[in-house]
Amino acid sequence: MKFDSKLIHGGTSYDKYTGAVNVPIYQTSTYKQTELGGEPQWEYSRTGNPTRNALEELIAQLEGGISGAAFASGSAAIHAVFSLFSKGDHIVVGNDVYGGTFRLINTVLTRMGLEFTAVDTRDLQAVKQALRPNTKALYLETPTNPLMHISDIKALATLAHTNDLLVIVDNTFATPYLQRPLELGADIVLHSASKYLGGHSDLVAGLTVVKDEKLGQQLHYLQNAIGAILGPQDSWLLQRGIKTLAVRMRAHNENARQIFEFLEKHEKVAKIYYPGDQKAPAYALAKEQMDDFGGMLSFELKEGSDLKAFIESLQLITLAESLGSVESLIEVPAIMTHGAIPREIRLKDGIKDELIRLSVGIEDVNDLIADLKQALAKA
Ligand SMILES: *Cc1c(COP(=O)(O)O)cnc(C)c1O
Repeated sequence: MKFDSKLIHGGTSYDKYTGAVNVPIYQTSTYKQTELGGEPQWEYSRTGNPTRNALEELIAQLEGGISGAAFASGSAAIHAVFSLFSKGDHIVVGNDVYGGTFRLINTVLTRMGLEFTAVDTRDLQAVKQALRPNTKALYLETPTNPLMHISDIKALATLAHTNDLLVIVDNTFATPYLQRPLELGADIVLHSASKYLGGHSDLVAGLTVVKDEKLGQQLHYLQNAIGAILGPQDSWLLQRGIKTLAVRMRAHNENARQIFEFLEKHEKVAKIYYPGDQKAPAYALAKEQMDDFGGMLSFELKEGSDLKAFIESLQLITLAESLGSVESLIEVPAIMTHGAIPREIRLKDGIKDELIRLSVGIEDVNDLIADLKQALAKA
């Protein structure tokens, strides 16, 4: 089955009791057992729920894995994945991963005895140099947020596997529509499904997928033991969102491409970060590793422009955190999503005060460009 069909028919695509073409919301915590001491398929909804299970099968198929798990948020999924490791284990992590991942690492996981080194995962040599005898995993994002850095998953997986490391990729920005890390050698792929997979800014959820049976069992064990599961209502809503992933992603890709072309020619725009920029050094890698370039781009206004006036003049494009939804969302990382990072570190990482991140939605692109145009005129 091709990817677009899998979105709709993958996993358990209908209810086996009634034939309902959508898996029902099994709103139950427990299940009637027919014999004492039997081994029922369903016993308690933290451990397993048919609505969640259908979602887990679906995401496993979409990512080309064999086992999926659904969590209460992307952060809960990340926590479960890091819970595979023990006190004294060392993990090499991309230096520009999601801010909440750093918060979890710096304020929770290091306190529990996990060790981390942050490196630029675009630099294979830097990753190699960060390895220690107790290194157990490499954790990365590509494209990254908000500078759209591209790391070579295949090359990193080769390096990691010669050193017996697990490779973990946060695939939130790309989605399996654009990039399938397991096929490129990663061992674990995870998502904040609150973004593109859900796609409508109406839920918070997380997913993991693996291609190894034992690792799948370990993650299900942790999912049940820690307990940050996705409830049946949100599991259903997420499946509904995923059905239209392909049509949404095609619209995101196309709109972002046209907005990039518009911004590139605009006199008030100093710099644009976009994986589809043919002049960018990472373009060849992005083109090879991804099937298209996605709906995310960041840009800087020329010095002397009025950032506040620009943002506040936008009529259609919404000032908000988050990304990956049908509506276009804009934000200023220095003040919003990356505000917790000390300024010197942020500037060193290339995230300037005037950087703007745009999650291009699927509205009519002419309306989006008109909105940007009138707001830029006021900048
Ligand atoms: C939002 C996000 C997360 C965290 O997910 P939540 O669902 O908000 O907990 C993790 N990684 C990336 C890349 C994200 O954008």
